[in-house]
Amino acid sequence: MNEILQKVISSVKNEDFYSTRLTPTEGLEILRNVPWTEVVEAADQVRQARLPGNKVGYTAFRIINYTNICEVTCSFCSFCRPARSPEAYVLSLDEIRQKTIEAKAKGANQIFLQGGVNKEIPLSYYTDVLKMLTQEMGVTVRGFSPVELVRIAEYNNLSLDELLDIFKEAGLSSVPGAGAEILSDRMRQKLSPRKLPAQQWCDALAACHKKGLPGSANIVFGSDETDEEIIEHLEYVRKTQDIAQGFKSFVVWTFQPQTDNFPIRHVRGDEYLKLLALSRLYLDNIPHIEVSLLGMGLSLGELGLHAGADDINSIVIEENVLQNHGLSTIEEAETFIKNAGFTPYRRNLNFD
Ligand code: SF4
Repeated sequence: MNEILQKVISSVKNEDFYSTRLTPTEGLEILRNVPWTEVVEAADQVRQARLPGNKVGYTAFRIINYTNICEVTCSFCSFCRPARSPEAYVLSLDEIRQKTIEAKAKGANQIFLQGGVNKEIPLSYYTDVLKMLTQEMGVTVRGFSPVELVRIAEYNNLSLDELLDIFKEAGLSSVPGAGAEILSDRMRQKLSPRKLPAQQWCDALAACHKKGLPGSANIVFGSDETDEEIIEHLEYVRKTQDIAQGFKSFVVWTFQPQTDNFPIRHVRGDEYLKLLALSRLYLDNIPHIEVSLLGMGLSLGELGLHAGADDINSIVIEENVLQNHGLSTIEEAETFIKNAGFTPYRRNLNFD
């Protein structure tokens, strides 16, 4: 086996994660020149050493896209609408309540609130929704991407810290690392020049983590990003995690075909597994790696559990932004994990 991989494996087995962490140069070397089968084998060994017990996690939640009006207009997004579009909407409190009742009936007690950046929504809407969900409906809420939070704060003349205090008080318990895509400013200019630059995305998440609002991080690849930019992304995430340890997991996604405005390419299965495995090796400070069944399908997802991942990303009851290739019931999730050779356990969005 490649000697860089051997070094990582022996450091993990000796519980010496940080003194021998992969450098960006080593990460690039693995991504470019080490056979994917070796990377997968190393990641599986590291995962087994760090998380013994052969367990694989899942959780169940409903995504509620509270508005599709968004001024950011990412080039890959087919979900957002301008405010004057006949298809534009902002869900009422009653509509959100109804969706939550449906989610609870299907066994989900967590809501993932996500929308567009919509200047017209008053601050009271967000706090009313959060209070209704947590106090009346008794669910936990993960919500708001960094760009939503930063813009909501700006529109209401608040600092990000002040907004986070208000949202936390109203019931928010977790913030997703959404909108990362590729943390490289060249790619972000192509994807969405109006989204946050890479460092600001990281700073916003670090602020959430310091406030006790943990979440996850992800990468979305499969455009014309370079190998260097993939490593740059992993490095941004690892450095952010060093600040306040709020990323409970890292998910590897691929871009899904949604618009003609953004170049996407076919991601081969071995390419996906190699990046999944490299993420396990590089992100030595993030405990859980999630394979994306939603984006990659069940067969590749099963292999991902032998390539460093220890979580199947979740049962998602509604998802407007991506095509659904995942599992839709708790029974299906447990069966899938058992068939892959692991013991399922149900977790919440914060891995508590
Ligand atoms: S991906 Fe999110 S931020 Fe980008 S345009 Fe769509 S809704 Fe807006």
